[in-house]
Amino acid sequence: MHHSPRHCDLLLFAGHLVSQDDARTIHADAGLAVQDGLVAAVGPRHVLEQDWTANRRLEFPEGVIFPGFINGHTHAAMSWFRGLADDLPLMDWLQRHIFPAEQRHTPRTVELGSLLSCAEMLAAGITCFADMHFWADAVARAAHTAGMRAMLGEAIFGFPTPASPTVKVALERAHTLREALQGDARRRICVAPHSVYTTTPAMLTHAAALSDMWECPICIHAAESAAETAQSLSQHGRRPLEHLDALGLLGPRTVLAHGVDLLPREIELLAERGVSVIHNPRSNMKLASGVAPVPALLAAGVAVGLGTDGPASNNQLNLFAEMHACALLHKGVHKQADLLPAQAVLDMATRHAADALHWPTLGRLVVGGPADLAVVDGSLPHLQPMADPVAHAAYSMHGGEVVLTMVAGEILYQDGRHTRFDLDALRREMQDCRLSADVRPGAAA
Ligand SMILES: [Zn+2]
Repeated sequence: MHHSPRHCDLLLFAGHLVSQDDARTIHADAGLAVQDGLVAAVGPRHVLEQDWTANRRLEFPEGVIFPGFINGHTHAAMSWFRGLADDLPLMDWLQRHIFPAEQRHTPRTVELGSLLSCAEMLAAGITCFADMHFWADAVARAAHTAGMRAMLGEAIFGFPTPASPTVKVALERAHTLREALQGDARRRICVAPHSVYTTTPAMLTHAAALSDMWECPICIHAAESAAETAQSLSQHGRRPLEHLDALGLLGPRTVLAHGVDLLPREIELLAERGVSVIHNPRSNMKLASGVAPVPALLAAGVAVGLGTDGPASNNQLNLFAEMHACALLHKGVHKQADLLPAQAVLDMATRHAADALHWPTLGRLVVGGPADLAVVDGSLPHLQPMADPVAHAAYSMHGGEVVLTMVAGEILYQDGRHTRFDLDALRREMQDCRLSADVRPGAAA
């Protein structure tokens, strides 16, 4: 049957396309058609060439197209504190270095630090991130400037922050952010009580009620380390998950960052309650928090996505690095080579992270879904031969091979340049602020 070709905004072709669809289809010599920010068609080149014409064509003969990577947990504004306090355990690092340093923030510094992180993430093919910070509206502005998708939570702490002298103010900020992002195509909110050890039971139950009322995810750090468990036992007489469950915080809207110090019965509990978990392997290793029982979580049926955590505890916002760490770490710990195979970690950095964040249209390239993608240069020596792009994603790519990043059909990064903002100007403004220099330990408060 002959029919005239349909017209679309953009045709994009590459040597390989890793769709991450339900069947995990990988096409060779293939591409996709983009119309109105959505994928209009995916498939082999000869089919697309027959069926479609376009205003614009992009060709990457030796490239690999992946769905945009999804950073399931970060604090983008913390780029200011990269290298500020390394080689310290979690509680020391957080309470003696990071929390005091963060007291010097202004809305502008939160926005600048977040935009720098957006630049870093886009350059590594990340199209969406979940973030928790005070002045989340400033993080939201950065995401908007960069054009990224983001799930944003105004961090709720039991102590004053520069943004909120009281919890009441933090909750008002959460309300205001929700209003501001109603109907926004690229940005969503979550409710973000920081953790068990920085909040009161009343704050946690209030946060859970907001998440129910707003029908949005509730994101919280929990079971990150044995030290946190010990602190929870002494403060509340309960382990962190027992505490959260008793307060009604473990449910299908809960997105739990870390989940390292978990008992077998707590893994079962997370599965029963439908809680999803974001695994941050490099942050957990660097802060000496331990190794999350990811194989057991997956076996129990828990949705697990990958995250970087903040740029001060990692110190990179790069999901290729997280995939690599995740694939190797669990094999090494369990002395079992078939744990966390390449396809599983790619899933955790794309479609499973999207599912964990309750944003299931992301993380896969399918007809009708958003045209959020990353193109990797497959011609580089460390990617030869291009026998299996999924194996290469987990074991060989480092993120620096990304040549194009797109959200909703819009190119946000190409060949080392960010299309929506001037990275040099941003770096100059950050150097003039000198926030990170001023807050080094020992500097006058
Ligand atoms: Zn975190």
